[in-house]
Amino acid sequence: MEDCIFCKIVRGEIPCYKVYEDDEVLAFLDISQTTKGHTLVIPKEHFQNMLYCPKDLLAKVMGVAQHIAQAQVASLGANGVNVLINTNEVAGQTVMHFHVHVIPRYSGEDCLRLEFLSNKIDHLSLPAIADEIIKKL
Ligand code: AMP
Ligand code: ZN
Repeated sequence: MEDCIFCKIVRGEIPCYKVYEDDEVLAFLDISQTTKGHTLVIPKEHFQNMLYCPKDLLAKVMGVAQHIAQAQVASLGANGVNVLINTNEVAGQTVMHFHVHVIPRYSGEDCLRLEFLSNKIDHLSLPAIADEIIKKL
């Protein structure tokens, strides 16, 4: 992917603050640092988002994400971690190369707010929704 910013990072065409690398996976600091240590984990191969990433590679990416999260808690004094995958624009994805955010959280002193607002739709049928999903599994 010629113009993909994360492919350019993989190729070394633009710099990053690398924290982990192997043959298939790269992890580097997010330039925005939502909290101290905010890291992105990506497959080196380009996939538009999580939906297109082969399962074995997805498992490797998530394994690295766990490793990074453990290191953030151990080294930065984080009290918790959010692991976040935005998929498509509607979910906030801005860079169309699959990536996992690993965001350390600090008690009482960070600025990240993730909030599940209550659903205004009151006629949802949970059994019917579960059936819809199950049909496509
Ligand atoms: P998302 O909104 O889930 O697509 O997240 C994309 C993330 O990539 C954002 O948090 C950006 O701050 C981050 N980002 C964009 N360009 C760079 C870059 N050159 N180096 C590191 N992080 C980047
Ligand atoms: Zn890419």
